[in-house]
Order: sequence, then structure tokens, then C-alpha cells
Amino acid sequence: MYEHDVLVVGAGGAGLRAAIAAHEAGADTAIVSKLHPVRSHTGAAEGGINAALQEGDDWELHAYDTMKGSDYLADAPAVETLAQDAPEDTMRLEHWGMPFSREEDGRVSQRPFGGLSYPRTTYAGAETGHHLLHTMYEQVVKRGIQVYDEWYVMNLATTDEADPNDRQCEGIVAYDVQSGNVEGFKANQGVILATGGPGQAFDHTTNAVSCTGDGHAMAYRAGAPLEDMEFIQFHPTSLPSTGVLISEGVRGEGGILYNNEGERFMFEYGYANNSGELASRDVVARAELDEVAEGRGVEDEYVHLDMRHLGEDRILDRLENILHLAEDFEGVDGLVEPMPVKPGQHYAMGGIEVDENGQTCIDGLYAAGECACVSVHGGNRLGGNALPELIVFGKRAGAHAAGDDLGEPEIRTGYGDDVEDDDTELPVAPGASGLDSADSVAADGGVAAETGALEQAVERERARVERLMDKDSGVQHAEIRSKLQKAMTDYVNVFRNEEGITKALKLIRECREEYQDVYVDDPSKTFNTDLQQTIETRNLIDVAETIALGALVRNEFRGAHWRQENQVRDDENWLKHTLVSWDDGEPSIFYRPVILEGEEKTYEPKVRSY
Ligand SMILES: Cc1cc2nc3c(=O)[nH]c(=O)nc-3n(C[C@H](O)[C@H](O)[C@H](O)COP(=O)(O)OP(=O)(O)OC[C@H]3O[C@@H](n4cnc5c(N)ncnc54)[C@H](O)[C@@H]3O)c2cc1C
Repeated sequence: MYEHDVLVVGAGGAGLRAAIAAHEAGADTAIVSKLHPVRSHTGAAEGGINAALQEGDDWELHAYDTMKGSDYLADAPAVETLAQDAPEDTMRLEHWGMPFSREEDGRVSQRPFGGLSYPRTTYAGAETGHHLLHTMYEQVVKRGIQVYDEWYVMNLATTDEADPNDRQCEGIVAYDVQSGNVEGFKANQGVILATGGPGQAFDHTTNAVSCTGDGHAMAYRAGAPLEDMEFIQFHPTSLPSTGVLISEGVRGEGGILYNNEGERFMFEYGYANNSGELASRDVVARAELDEVAEGRGVEDEYVHLDMRHLGEDRILDRLENILHLAEDFEGVDGLVEPMPVKPGQHYAMGGIEVDENGQTCIDGLYAAGECACVSVHGGNRLGGNALPELIVFGKRAGAHAAGDDLGEPEIRTGYGDDVEDDDTELPVAPGASGLDSADSVAADGGVAAETGALEQAVERERARVERLMDKDSGVQHAEIRSKLQKAMTDYVNVFRNEEGITKALKLIRECREEYQDVYVDDPSKTFNTDLQQTIETRNLIDVAETIALGALVRNEFRGAHWRQENQVRDDENWLKHTLVSWDDGEPSIFYRPVILEGEEKTYEPKVRSY
């Protein structure tokens, strides 16, 4: 058994920042991560970090752009905190040695990004995330914060009161990838989930194979609701063959999108007459797919992104990494030809429901970064707004878990008297199929009731590994995973309708049932990626189902969520967050109103045009 005051699960941007803050607040802090910190997916971030740093810009403008970009589904207290704290937190990175790109006069450069009214995206070439991770990891090492890397966290240890709002998180159970041992980690003050996105629920994604929604699934099954899961961002410029991202920085620097007729379609067909290529991502992704549907796509699949006119010097100075990606993954030389691009799953706006201090409804359980929903992105995230979220809310979660007083949050969490129940009759029964020990905090797996939550959780997870390893035939996780990914890409993509989402829910149900027969082929105890991916696949099933459920019940068009049956934003009925909570294996859906009232103004919903 290991013991620390604050345990941070995940060592990406959010996890590293949370750990530094918890340590600075005096807590004995440790990070537990399935990857070495600098291999975390944050390292793939290319474009930059939004922060109002320059004269002429200010946090109010950043907050306004973010509320508008969210299609008025973000909570103003969180958005204002993001915009207010981002400048100082970004400059702290600079003081820690982050090598930001600079102007001739030495000032940190900022470039335009989609949906921003001011060029406020700071960057380090086209490798911003890589430098962010290295800068913060240095600080972790400098402070002597303990890192347990290549430890896969399987589940949370929470108490099992009937009402999740009364539960307490006592620690985590993790699998040592090197030895195959399952061990308990006690957290005296708090557990912070910083496990990143669930992109692997889709088969064409910009996300790494490690983005399997583990934190989402663990928190959900422990009783913390998942919020606004239907809002998935599809990035307009991913490479068609692999999903690898071509940064929005290319369009920020002046890159142009063309259809197969050589037309600059964003203007030519009026998709975004003011902002063109730099309209919000959801707008550009839909425009590209419309072009393909109209027969103006290249090879009936994608469009072209051209940066040749920027000139070799500027490309090499600011976008060199893009040249390598296009060359390595598509065999295209971006200096002499346009690059093929199409929309790909990129980001989850929703996540584990938390307040401004990163706290879930379960005492001692926090979440930060892409796995959390605070919510600053609402229906659509603006490019460059995820990285500041990591540093601002990672910092807050770490400080709060370690005991700092950050004031009373305005955002409420968990089921309560301010929520509205959903009464949709679901076409397919969601939820657990058979009893897997991962299903429920109450599934004691025969463990003596008098032991503590952590001891029980450790025994449950050891029994789970044994069960998976003992079986010598059945279905392999890869088969189930690819069926799930295809279902989500076919039916819960950019364009959605009830019939398709119902098909997806049925296929997810089939995946759940097939999972009852899953087995692990690799018998080894060390570096058994087969076992780890089998557990991840179970998490993906739970998370994909919440995405499809949210997409089904939200019958309106808002931000990234387009519904064929109702192609308008319906503010009268839908200015509310969708919450899905797991009640001992049975998902239930409820809603909580969006908070549009900021410190000094209310963000009245307006038509979102670019
Ligand atoms: C290609 C790409 C480019 C992007 N570019 C930008 C950009 O320019 N600007 C911007 O603002 N946003 C960008 N984003 C979004 C942003 O990078 C991500 O949202 C953000 O980096 C996620 O950080 P995170 O700390 O939440 O998670 P991650 O960086 O994904 O880290 C997750 C951590 O959790 C650990 N983990 C996960 N599950 C477990 C488990 N079960 N047990 C133990 N450890 C676990 C992993 O090991 C990892 O350390 C981009 C996203 C992509 C995909």
C-alpha cells in the first residue's frame, strides 16, 4: 500500500500543473501515470495557448469570445476564471523557461486562431504542447514530486453510500505495468483525475491510442456524473489516412482551404463570410463535409489546405513541424503542394462534472484538463483554449485538494434540487450487462464488508485481473473496440440523427454483451498491453454510451452537436447541461441550467456567425 496526501492520476499538462500546485500548497503529492509524463498526449498540441497578454486585448474579450464560441453552453464563472487567470499562468510558464516564439523586439508572439477577436494565441513553433510538458516536468523533478510512471490506474476506491453526494474517495487501485502487481494508493486529502480525452471511442481521431477515457469511466462508475458528453469537436484539418492533426496554426498564419474546383469555398459558398477559414471549428468541419457531399471534395473524401503562399522562411520558422507531418504521414511536401485534410474527432468538450475548484460531487475526488467539464467550452471549444484550461484549472484543483481556500464555487455538482429529470423513452436499454467488478462501487466481489473502501477496491481489482487472465478463449478486446469505434464514427459523427444514434446505441449494447466473453490472449505478467487495453476497452464502452445518450436526448443544433431533425439552436428549451450518472449500472439522465451570469455582465445568447 502506498500513501500520499494528494494523488494526481495522469501526467499531461493538467496533471503536472495540478501536482505542482498541490506540492506548493504543502501537500505530499504523487503522480500516477500509465505513460511517462513527457509521452502524455499534451505533447501533440501544436497551435498554442490563448491568453490576453497584449495591449488592446483584455480578459473580458477573451471571455466574450469563449462564451460565443461555446454557443452559450459554457458556465460564465468558469469562463471568466479561465480568461482572468490565463495571462498570469502563461507568463509563469515563460518564467519556468518555456521557449515561446518571439517577435523581433523580444516580446512573446501571438497569432490569430479561429473564433478569436484578437490574435491572442501564444505558441512555441508548432510544438507548443511538447514544450509545455517538458517545462512543467522539469518543475516536477526540481520539486522532487514522486512520479509512479507506467502504473495503470484501474479504479477509484470510494465509499458506497446510496447518494453519490455522500461518498468519499479514499484512493486508487493501480496496476504496475512492469511487474503486473495490483496495489492500493491511499490519498489522505484528495485524488485528482487528469487522464485526458476519450478520442479512441472514434476510429478517425487526432488523439493518441492512450486517450481511452479511463478517468471519465472511473469517475462515472463511482457516481460522479458526466456532463455534456454529446459535444465532441471534430477538427477540420486532420490527415485523411491517419487522423494526424494539421494545426489550426496553419490557417492562423494564413493557410487557405480549397475544394476540388480550386474554389476558396468558405467564402465562395458563404459558410463564413467574415472569418472564412478562421471561423469556429464546427463551422469549418461542416463546410468541408458539405463540399464533399456536393461533389466538390477531392477524391470524394477531403479538401485541400494550402500554405505555399506563406513562403518557405515563414513556414520553416513557424510551422516546420507541419511539413514533417504532411511528408511523413501523407507523402506530401507542404512547400510545393497543398495538403489533404478532412474532419477528425479531436476533443471532448464534456467530461467529469466539476466546479471551479475542480471538485466533483464526491468528497475528495477532483478532475482537471480534458477529462473534466467545468465547463469552459460548452458546445464548442475555441482552438487554443484547452491548454490554458489545463494550467488554470489544473492549478486550482491541485491547490484546493491540498487545502487552499479558493472561495465558494458558484457551479454546483451532483444530483440536487436544481436539476431537471429527463423523460425520454430510450430505444435501447443502456448500462451494465452482467456484473463486472468495475460496474459499481457497491459490487464487493465477496470482500469482507468490515474492510475499508481501499482494501475492498484492491481485492475487487485483483479478482478482476485474475478473471480476465484465467479465461483462455473468447472475444479479443480489439474486435470489440473496432466495432465500437466504427459505430461512433458512422452514427455519432459531425452530422447526427435519431435513427443513426439509435443504431449506435444498439451496437454499443452488443459490444457490452460481447465484452462479457472477453479474454486476454497474452499470459505474461510484465508489460501486458493486451490486459491493459482490455480494461481500457471496457472504459471506452461506458464513455461512448454517454456520448450517444447525450446526442440522442439533445434534440437541437448547438455548437458541435448538429441534429438533422431540429437544425436550430433552441434556447428556450436547451440552455442546460446534459448530465448522465451511473446508478449501480443504470445510467440516468438529468439537466442543470447553464450559468450565463458573469461577475459584471450576463452573456445574452446571440446568433453565432463568423
Ligand atoms: C493533436 C492535438 C493538438 C492539439 N493542439 C492544441 C493546441 O494547440 N492548443 C490547445 O489549447 N489545445 C490543443 N489540443 C487539445 C489539448 O492538447 C488537450 O486537450 C490536452 O493536452 C489534454 O491534456 P490533459 O492533461 O487533460 O491530458 P493528456 O495530456 O492526454 O494526459 C493524460 C495523462 O493521463 C494518463 N492516464 C490516462 N489514463 C490513465 C490511467 N488509467 N492510469 C494512469 N494514468 C492514466 C496518461 O498517461 C497521461 O499522462 C490538441 C489536441 C490534439 C489531439
